[in-house]
Amino acid sequence: MGIFSSGIEGKRVFYKTNDEIEMMRKANLVVSKTLGHVASLLRPGITGAEIDKAAEEFIRDHKGRPAFKGYGDADNPFPGSLCISYNDIVVHGIPSKREFKEDDIVSIDCGVELEGFYGDAAFTFAFANVGEPTMELLSVTYASLYRAIEQAVHGKRVGDIAFAVQEYCERQHKYYVVRDLVGHGVGRSLHEDPEVPNYGKRGKGPLLLDGLVLAIEPMINLGTRDVYQDEDGWTIHARDRGPSAHYEHSVAVRKSKADILSTHEFILEAIKNNKSLKEVYPKN
Ligand code: MG
Ligand code: MG
Repeated sequence: MGIFSSGIEGKRVFYKTNDEIEMMRKANLVVSKTLGHVASLLRPGITGAEIDKAAEEFIRDHKGRPAFKGYGDADNPFPGSLCISYNDIVVHGIPSKREFKEDDIVSIDCGVELEGFYGDAAFTFAFANVGEPTMELLSVTYASLYRAIEQAVHGKRVGDIAFAVQEYCERQHKYYVVRDLVGHGVGRSLHEDPEVPNYGKRGKGPLLLDGLVLAIEPMINLGTRDVYQDEDGWTIHARDRGPSAHYEHSVAVRKSKADILSTHEFILEAIKNNKSLKEVYPKN
C-alpha cells in the first residue's frame, strides 16, 4: 500500500542491521507465499472477500499478522487483510463481494508483520480475456519495478529510483505515473521514511545508504495521472476510470546491488498452473 505524500507515520529513516534484514526477509517470505496462494485461487466468479479470507488464514497459519487489517485512523480502519484493486482502482481497494470477471485485472497488495518486522509486496494479475493494450500496461509497469530496483544501491538517491520509473513509463511508453501515491521505507513500521515517488530527477532526493529498506511500488495508469478517492475513505481510482497497474517489492539497499527481500516466484509458478490467468512478465 502506498501512502499519500503527506505521509502517515514513521517520519524517520532507519537503517537495518544484517540480522534485521534477515528478519525482514522472513516477513516478506510470508507475504510472497500468501500472494502465491492467492494466485492459485483467482478465477472468474470468486470474490475479493473470499480471497481476503483465505489470505488472512494463510498469513495467520504462517505465524504472521495481516498488516493492513485495522490500519489507519481509528474511525475508519482498513477492513481487509489485502488491498484488492481491480481495473481502474489504483490501490487501497477494499475486499468486497463483487465477483471477478474474465477481463479483469486486479492488483493484490499484501503486508505482513512477523516478529516485529514488516513485509510488503504486490502484483497485478490479468484474467484470461484481458486485451493487449492492458497487458502491455502491466508488462511495462512490471519492467519499471525492476528498473527502479537496479537504482536501489548505496550512494544513489531516491530521485534515481523515481527517474527510472518515470523515464521508462512516461517518456518511453506514454503512460502516466500516479503522483499522489508513493513507495516508502519499511521495517519495524509498515511506512517509514523516506517516501519513494515514481517520478523525479536523477541525483536528487534523499541519499540511499546500505541497510535502508524500501517498498518500491510503481503505480501506472493508461490514460491519466490523476486519481480520486471513494467515499469509503480508501479506494483510489484513476480519474478517467481507465486501467491502472501496480507492482511492488521490498528491497534492501546494499553496496553493490539491491537485495530483493520479497519474491514473485510463487505467484509466477501459480499463474502457470491457473488457466483463469494470463502470464505477466516484465517487458523486455
Ligand atoms: Mg504494498
Ligand atoms: Mg507499500
